[in-house]
Amino acid sequence: MRPAAALLIVGLAVAPFASASACAGEHDDTGAGPARATSQATSPQTAAATGSTAPPRPTRVHLRPLRVATGLRAVDQLARVIGPRQATGPDFRRASAWLAERFREAGYAVRREPFPVPGGDSWGVPVSPGRSMNVIATPQDFDPRRPHLVVGAHLDTVPQSPGAEDDASGIGVLLMIADALSGASSAGRLPVVLIGFGAEEPRGPTDADHHYGSRAYVAGLSQAQRQAVRGMLALDRVGVGDVVPVCTAGDDVARGQVLRAGRRADVPMQPCENRSSDHWSFVERGMPGVRLGGTSYAGYHSPSDVPSVVNAAQLRRTARLVLAWIE
Ligand SMILES: [Zn+2]
Repeated sequence: MRPAAALLIVGLAVAPFASASACAGEHDDTGAGPARATSQATSPQTAAATGSTAPPRPTRVHLRPLRVATGLRAVDQLARVIGPRQATGPDFRRASAWLAERFREAGYAVRREPFPVPGGDSWGVPVSPGRSMNVIATPQDFDPRRPHLVVGAHLDTVPQSPGAEDDASGIGVLLMIADALSGASSAGRLPVVLIGFGAEEPRGPTDADHHYGSRAYVAGLSQAQRQAVRGMLALDRVGVGDVVPVCTAGDDVARGQVLRAGRRADVPMQPCENRSSDHWSFVERGMPGVRLGGTSYAGYHSPSDVPSVVNAAQLRRTARLVLAWIE
């Protein structure tokens, strides 16, 4: 067991990268392991609340252990309790409020950014025009003009599906990552923006008829902010199978970085080509983007995409890969 003193550095300004990355392979949620000692550390919110006269508070260097229960709870909440979440409907709004609250609890600054989407045909079901929204979580001291990473998953579903695998699984892994990074210093690595995208699912047959949320997010970035995005991961269908698909949309350099991170973390992966998720919105505007996930399964875009489709081990594999890439 590592002593608690090794996990905390008081008033830390700069953490050596080697020290932070040395923990990369140690995340798990097997119970009261040594990393639990980090939970006493200060969250971004409590640090902000201490005011300028307070003495420096401890900053956690190490990340919290991954908790797959967090991912499974998200799948249950979104796919069983809320159910289908068509991007302009009331159940999508419930889901976005729920996700915003989870991000806030983990200590992030959260904003919901609405955008218009047209009506159309979503997987055979007519859908009306309306507004959807992105749920965006940033570290409290985040500056979007400084280099950073983006990790996103889509919160909406096609109208006929509760979307456990597509894509409550992605939101589940996103929240596992939010929890692992919560309160940790980003010294030695890039800060991370976490986004639940609205309206990823198609509302028509062409490339222009989906990914509305990620396209709205990218369109809202200045040139300097786009240059500051050093990598983007879209988590889309990440709870089926036993190998993590790592898909390029033409950016092989970005995919190579993810594959190297996965090999370091000993995650089984399958390289692939794919444009049909939110990473494409970033790649087409010149930013490095990669999709994780997309293994075929029987319940795709159907009423049988229920929580039992999603397996905990694949959520954990995907989250380990994301953390290795971040670190
Ligand atoms: Zn999807």
